[in-house]
This record gives sequence, C-alpha cells and structure tokens, in this order.
Amino acid sequence: MEISNVVEGYKITIGLEIHAELKTNSKMFCGCANSSESLPNINICPICMGHPGTLPVINKEAVRKVLLVGKAVGGKIADFTEFDRKNYFYPDIPKGYQISQYKFPLISGGTLSGVQLTRIHLEEDTARSTHDTPGVSLVDFNRAGVPLMELVTEPVIHSSTEAMNFGKELQLLLQYLQVSDANMEKGEMRVEVNFSVSKSEEFGTKVEIKNINSFRAVGKAIDFEYKRQTALLEKGEKVIQETRGWDENKGITFSQRKKESAHDYRYFPEPDLPKLLLSEIAEFSDENLKSSLPELPNEKRERYLKDFKLKIEDIETFITNREVGDYFEQVASDLVALGDEAIKLASNYITSDLLGYSKNIDSSFKPGKVTATNFVQLITMIKKGDLSSRGAKDVLKIMFEVGGSPEAIANEKDLIQKSNIDEIKKIAEKIINDNPEVVIEYKAGKESLLQFFIGEGMKVTKGSVNPGVLKTIILDLLK
Ligand code: ADP
Ligand code: ZN
Ligand code: MG
Repeated sequence: MEISNVVEGYKITIGLEIHAELKTNSKMFCGCANSSESLPNINICPICMGHPGTLPVINKEAVRKVLLVGKAVGGKIADFTEFDRKNYFYPDIPKGYQISQYKFPLISGGTLSGVQLTRIHLEEDTARSTHDTPGVSLVDFNRAGVPLMELVTEPVIHSSTEAMNFGKELQLLLQYLQVSDANMEKGEMRVEVNFSVSKSEEFGTKVEIKNINSFRAVGKAIDFEYKRQTALLEKGEKVIQETRGWDENKGITFSQRKKESAHDYRYFPEPDLPKLLLSEIAEFSDENLKSSLPELPNEKRERYLKDFKLKIEDIETFITNREVGDYFEQVASDLVALGDEAIKLASNYITSDLLGYSKNIDSSFKPGKVTATNFVQLITMIKKGDLSSRGAKDVLKIMFEVGGSPEAIANEKDLIQKSNIDEIKKIAEKIINDNPEVVIEYKAGKESLLQFFIGEGMKVTKGSVNPGVLKTIILDLLK
C-alpha cells in the first residue's frame, strides 16, 4: 500500500490496552514457578495444562501487586471482585478458556500521565506458540498461567507522542513498584493500540493494533494507521472495525481478523474460584497498601525539582535511569551543606561527563572507579576554586579510568588551580618578558592582544590558573 501524503484535519482518538506479566514466585492459579526457562515445557502441571478435574487457587501476591498499581494511579479498589471465564479455542489456551475478569475488575478508574484509566484487571497469560518451521507449530506452556495484569485506558489520547509517553510512564511505574520488569522486547509488557480518526465530534470506527513490541513501534503504527484511515475516508470508503497486526520489517499494519465482541466469548463467573470481598482482607487495607508503596516516579520528580532545582532533562535522566539516580542521591546527600549550586554542578558532571564515559562501555550506568566519596571530593574542590572546570574534567576522566582521590590526581598532574598571587605574578612576568614585540603592539592600542597573554598563561599552567586572577595581574603589569 502506497501512502505518502498526510491528510490534515482529522482528530485522532486512541485508547490503550496494556498487558504486563507480574513478577511472582508462582503462577496465577497453580504452584508452578513463574520464571523464564531456556527449555520449553518445564514449568507445567495438570492445573496450568488444563487437565479435567484440577482446581485453580488464586495467587494472593498477584492480586496484591495489581492493587498496588491501583493505589499508585489513584484508582478505586473493588469491594467485590471475581474472576470470569473467557471462552475461546486456540492451541495456546489449553483449558479452552482464559481465566480473566469481566464485570468486576480489581481496579476502576485512576489516572497516569494525565490519561484517565478505565480499569485494571488480573488474568492468566497464554502459552507461547512458534511457527518457525513451515507446516510445524510448537507450543511452550511455560508461560501458560503466568499472572498477567491488563490496564485499559479511556479513549482520551490524541497523538502518537502522547501514547508513547503513557506507555513509558506505565513501564516506569511498574518497575518502581517492582510488580513487573515490563521489558517490551521480552514480551513482559505488551501494548495494544485502539485507534480511530474523525472529522466530527463523534468517534470514528476504531481498529485494534496488536503485536507491537517497542515504544518506537507504537508511534510508527499510529502514524501509519493515521495515513491509512484518512486515505480511506478521503476516497469515500469506510474504515472496517478489525484487529490488525504490526509488521515491524515493512513498517505497516495488516488485517488479522474481524473484531470479535464480548458476547463471542460467553464470559461467565469462574465456578472453581471464590469471589473476593477485598475490603474484608486485612492485608489489602488502605493503610497496608499505602505503606508498601515506594516513592513513585512523579513524587521523585517533584522532590528533585523542589529540593535541588535541577534541570528537567537531568531530572528525567535520574528518574528513568535508576542506577544513575541512586548515585546522584548518594552524592547529593553529602553535598547538601555546600548548597544548591554544588548539587547542580554534581548533576551536570554526572549527566554529561560521567554518563558519557559510561556509555562508551555499554548502555547500563557504570560510574567506573569513581566512588561517590571521591566524586563529592571533586565537586568540593571545584567549589573551593582548587580546580578549574577544565581541570576537573581531566581529573574526572582519570578518576573514571584508574580511580583515586581527585586531590591526589590533581596534584600529580599539576592541575591544582593556582590562585596564589605571587606565583601567578611570576608566570605573567615571564610571559611579558618573553614577548616584547606583542607588548609593544598592545601598548600601541591593539587591546585584543590581552587575550594572547591570558592564553599563554593558561597554556603554561595547563589551565590550572584562575583566569580571572590571571587577567587582573596581566592588566596590572601591562599598565
Ligand atoms: P471493545 O469492546 O471493542 O474491546 P472497549 O470499549 O472495551 O472496546 O475499548 C477498548 C479500548 O478501545 C479502550 O482502550 C478504549 O479507550 C478504546 N476505544 C474505544 N472506542 C474507541 C475509538 N472510537 N477510538 C479509539 N479508541 C477507542
Ligand atoms: Zn502449573
Ligand atoms: Mg476490550
């Protein structure tokens, strides 16, 4: 399909359905381990294989994890909740139905990133099927019955950027709460995009896009669908309500199947599981849940802004890269006495220099041999004027590669900033004596030559002299 022009003037409506595998010891309804295995069909038992006569048991930890997410997004925790059977046949669903939730989800409402949420419910994951060899399909049941959280948003998202940001923010939240690793490449978090366009106030017909396995692909799939749907409408044709897949290689969506509706699944309450009155379970009380919430990404953002007045980009680096954030916190707590400026300086050196060196190695943060204590010493030296910013960069590089205290390194490399007036005066006198013709030109009115003397001074001292002090002394000598 050839689509080139973007047609303007259509309003985009997006609602997301996001699944995340929960990190628990055991599966949702049986005692099998919930772990990734290199060999297929290791973590299986008669329950998750759907053998007749077996009985499921609810994994309390999985319920608690969804409730934590609900609390974190300000959703309403259900008083009454139950599980339902969602009936359909597929080789990856051994029972012939999936245990999910329908009318009474664990959580209703809430907001994240300014997006209203519809619900969050708990269900079980399906097995994983592969079709690598033509004519042969293989099924691995290790994943069958893994606790799966599903979060559904209201149709209130209006651009690909907003959709990607929401996904990233949810991923971050799940990781902060330690309820899921939410790695999209590993399929631990899966995003389905419901998308429609319309020129009027009413919603257009939506399509649902599946198999998207990165945030970048979320954006690309949305942009592609915009072009496809608007082109259809411009030609006077209709958008068909259907499920479409995302083809990463071709960068297109393609029709998979006509959308089934809820009644096709013949949902009914799971007769083998008890209904739950959550408000009567002490462990799930408001206070208990609240007290087990860690500091959330947004709370951390606000604290960094309020306490340290950092740049927004630096804050985002610390929020999204927790190793860098933890390092910064350690440093910042030791620098409080030196004031906001010192902390901002530390933030700069971490996000630009240290992170830069670390990225040359790999994508995870490695402060190298720079211990937090040594780093604090470095910032203290800069603040005291013992190191110029140029000198500090050189010292930090050596600290990163070989380690050691900044003071020892600066001494060894003769980088301690000289603000001793007599010493600087001697250097300045020598430069002036060595360059009589420049002095004559300067005195004849070419004042820009002042820069020459300062430059020479910096060169001779390898940047270890305080440029302001040097300038004053040279001006004085040249009078
Ligand atoms: P279905 O019954 O087809 O699954 P739902 O009402 O459950 O539809 O909504 C599923 C998702 O689609 C939700 O995230 C919702 O916000 C979103 N959605 C609903 N209507 C539209 C629309 N017209 N355009 C885009 N997204 C929509
Ligand atoms: Zn099992
Ligand atoms: Mg739905």
